[in-house]
Amino acid sequence: MSKAKKKTKVDPAVRVEELRELIRRHEHAYYVLDEPEVSDAEYDALFLELRRIEDERPDLISADSPTHRVSGEASDQFAKVRHRSPMLSLQNAFDEAEIRAFDKRVRAAVGDKVVYCAELKIDGLAISITYAKGRLQRAATRGDGTTGEDVTANVRTIRSVPLAVTPAKGLPEVFEVRGEVYFPIAGFEKLNREMEAAGKPRFVNPRNTAAGSVRQIDPNVTAARDLQTFMYTLDPAGPCKSQWDVLNALESMGFRVNKNRRRLDSIDQVIEYHGEWQRRRHELEYEIDGMVVKVDAFPQQLELGFVARSPRWAIAFKYAPEQAETEVEEIACYVGRTGVLTPVAHVKPVVVGGVTIRNVTMHNEAQVNEKGVYVGARVVIHRAGDVIPEIVSVKDPKPGWRMPAKCPVCGGEVVREEPYIAHRCINPFCGAQRLERLRHFAAVMDIEGLGYATLTQVIERGVVEDPSDLYRMSRDQVIELDGFADKSAQNLVGRIAGSARPELGRFLYALGIPQVGEATAQLLAADFGSIERLRGASEEDLRRVEGVGPSMAHEVHAYFQGPGSELVKRLLAVGVEPQAAEAVGEGPFTGKTFVFTGALETISRPDAEALVRKLGGKAAGSVSAKTDYVVAGPGAGSKLEKAQRLKLHILDEEQFKALLPK
Ligand code: NAD
Repeated sequence: MSKAKKKTKVDPAVRVEELRELIRRHEHAYYVLDEPEVSDAEYDALFLELRRIEDERPDLISADSPTHRVSGEASDQFAKVRHRSPMLSLQNAFDEAEIRAFDKRVRAAVGDKVVYCAELKIDGLAISITYAKGRLQRAATRGDGTTGEDVTANVRTIRSVPLAVTPAKGLPEVFEVRGEVYFPIAGFEKLNREMEAAGKPRFVNPRNTAAGSVRQIDPNVTAARDLQTFMYTLDPAGPCKSQWDVLNALESMGFRVNKNRRRLDSIDQVIEYHGEWQRRRHELEYEIDGMVVKVDAFPQQLELGFVARSPRWAIAFKYAPEQAETEVEEIACYVGRTGVLTPVAHVKPVVVGGVTIRNVTMHNEAQVNEKGVYVGARVVIHRAGDVIPEIVSVKDPKPGWRMPAKCPVCGGEVVREEPYIAHRCINPFCGAQRLERLRHFAAVMDIEGLGYATLTQVIERGVVEDPSDLYRMSRDQVIELDGFADKSAQNLVGRIAGSARPELGRFLYALGIPQVGEATAQLLAADFGSIERLRGASEEDLRRVEGVGPSMAHEVHAYFQGPGSELVKRLLAVGVEPQAAEAVGEGPFTGKTFVFTGALETISRPDAEALVRKLGGKAAGSVSAKTDYVVAGPGAGSKLEKAQRLKLHILDEEQFKALLPK
């Protein structure tokens, strides 16, 4: 253990200079080289720290501070263009409190009658295009806000930019249109596949790639990149009286304008709309990093005016970043129920997409090495929506990580059996595998209250070795466990007993037969109809089932001849009676998918699911956008939350029963 360091107070005057230098360096890498060295979140944190010190110590403010000027600079590779009016940056709001504070400032200045125009904040590159007599004359990047780079030849290659327009009535001969150039996600992924195929390094993100593509010396490179645009500013605005008018005028002149926009007359509505797009952002074919909220009426904008680098009448209401950089502290291995070892990178905690990430799972040794992950590596983590976090890039990648030769849990031998890519612990008595097998059994058989903590205890006490022992457990044995009292012990024993008549498919899946997932288990159940027939099936019989290949047939056969034979015998002996699968009927639920979560009071969950199937529907285990109904009872947790987020149809038990035919 290192001794606690004595905290020394940093002199704010020194820190301010240090921050300015760091920020300038990152801005150069981001705006000029299009190759950021740190994540946006890290840059934002430095910027915020600088702004806070300057707020507290106005004597330290200097006119050339990054907080007082638009970031970026025009590169010498291009001719320079002076903008007619400055292209500004935006103030940021990172949470509800900050956006409410913005609303308060606005209302204090212009009174209570405020309408906001809310637009998506496209994560691209700001561009300004000058039209003269209806023809595209010049296009420029933002640069430092006053002077940009002449990228006319490149912007001309972007198909959604009109080369000639019929100006809206009331516009002068020369006017500017401003907006965002971006790289659509699909095009970005395609480009990266091509880079990979050519053995070249991948691009980091669509934003910087869009910027790099516009700022090319050779316009042919830009033309090959399939860039897109959304326009949002008209300068001067001619007959338009508001931002809303501008968007409509641009649209009617033939510019590409984002349809996802709204005029809202309270900050509560703005917050709600912002939340809606936070949830839905992955439906879009481009990346957004927030919502831009603008005071709609031009007279009010005029009254509010500008501060040094941004207008007072607009704000970027940001979303939590979906990528962040951190450091790998350890690569551990997690042992699953079939003995497969999965490498997990333990990283320094970092917030990505609004969630703190500590562990990132990788698939296998090969993947760790393809990415070049090692202990001490700086890595960029990506997490989008409900997607599992992943390491997208490694600074200074180094291959060479090896799976341990011995199982980290039981010390048993670890092997890689060709043709599989995974490494497995082959000790059938491995404690980790036993725990995972029991946990899988309990989860599939829907025995609530039988999680890792309880299972670990019953294994350690020698009460349970395999799933059949669960059905032998007495109330008195359960009371002894941590976290149980009289009633809860009785309930758990009751729930275990209540799970003893599973549908055959569910039972087969719960056994954890290698290679047999939920869908295959259902296929086998439908085909063989009983556990006896399945146990007696030859490899040949198994191969005849649609969807079962030779390797799976081999595994299933070997399972019932080997370890499975004894386990099934023991389960039947304690009274578990798998029920023949009922054929899916045609009925009122045909084409509908149900998910049950939480406790049901008058019907067991398996019975309710069987009923859904009998009436033609599907009963799924997890909630997705394809779920039609979520039936939620007391104690419903994450599935219900997800259903609410996805705005699915949520029923209670009574409402579900009302759907059943009388
Ligand atoms: P900004 O990106 O926070 O906001 C201003 C920009 O938003 C405008 O210039 C415009 O291009 C864009 N925009 C998108 N949609 C818009 C719409 N509908 N209406 C109006 N504007 C819209 O500000 P910025 O000064 O361009 O960049 C700062 C941000 O860039 C930082 O917050 C950081 O995330 C990133 N950055 C990162 C690094 C790094 O090293 N990683 C360095 C510098 C900047």
